[in-house]
Amino acid sequence: MKIVIADAMEPEVISEIKKLGETQVSPADLPSALKDAEVLVVRSATKVTEELLTHAPKLRIVARAGVGLDNVDAEACARRKIKVMNTPGASSNSVAELALGMMFAFSRRIPRADSGMKAKKWLKKELTGTELMDKTLGLVGFGRIGTMLAMKAKALGMRVIYYDTHHAESIIAKGVDLDELLASSDFISLHVPLLPSTQNMINAAAISKMKKNAFIINTARGGLIDEEALADALSQGRIAGAALDVYSHEPYIGPLCGLENIILTPHIAGSTKEAQVRIGQELVQKLIEELK
Ligand code: NAD
Repeated sequence: MKIVIADAMEPEVISEIKKLGETQVSPADLPSALKDAEVLVVRSATKVTEELLTHAPKLRIVARAGVGLDNVDAEACARRKIKVMNTPGASSNSVAELALGMMFAFSRRIPRADSGMKAKKWLKKELTGTELMDKTLGLVGFGRIGTMLAMKAKALGMRVIYYDTHHAESIIAKGVDLDELLASSDFISLHVPLLPSTQNMINAAAISKMKKNAFIINTARGGLIDEEALADALSQGRIAGAALDVYSHEPYIGPLCGLENIILTPHIAGSTKEAQVRIGQELVQKLIEELK
């Protein structure tokens, strides 16, 4: 069986996949490498289009090493009876940990303290923080990542509420409607997919319902927050702060970069050693099950 790994990947992922068969990594000419391939493994760079598939008559599986299938034309694959798979759970804990890290960074003002020290400024008097204990965390989306973050927040003594269109009752968090979540949360963290129903769900109207001390975090998908409305709210002090890992257009270099009360990271929520190892393991496990 021939496997083509089209995109750059961590050595951990490649060595797991190599256990399954003859593997060609990052071929210079992808269409011709696909001529006799049965499995195509991609990350984000390769767009799996109908046109690309015409070069792959023997292809049985398209495997995306990561969450989401934004770069794979799943319908074109279905028409050709090509199975599509991904690794949706591999980075959940890493994302939940980054969201929690954002909460600590904001409440203890770590970015400001750090940049002050590096500028040789002792800002002790200006940097009184707040604790997370007894604060309310509102989770928009209570799937894999939302649930993991809820468990960590509970361990810190936070109250956790969530809004999710599908999730059943939970013993660790209370389900509420979106308006109640926006109005009563000190921290709001987004963990929903980007869909027509979630696009710009955090817009000026939603922000106007939040508490003045609210801190909003998006480690899910760019497009969930109206970035212009967020920039307005932050510069006018209508909410206390925000943290973003994902943006409507990436790499992001927009006006949010110039604000004080925001923490920005370049889409790194899933980028940990552990998540990479899990991606490789999860992918290989799924491939073994599919190919047996
Ligand atoms: P999941 O599918 O396990 O959970 C998503 C939840 O959102 C589900 O429970 C679903 O019922 C709920 N939902 C869907 N539409 C909704 C709506 N309109 N209103 C309220 N709830 C709704 O997904 P997950 O694995 O927890 O991932 C959450 C998000 O994080 C996804 O967007 C994913 O792409 C993103 N993510 C980002 C990174 C990163 O590197 N920044 C890494 C992994 C995942």
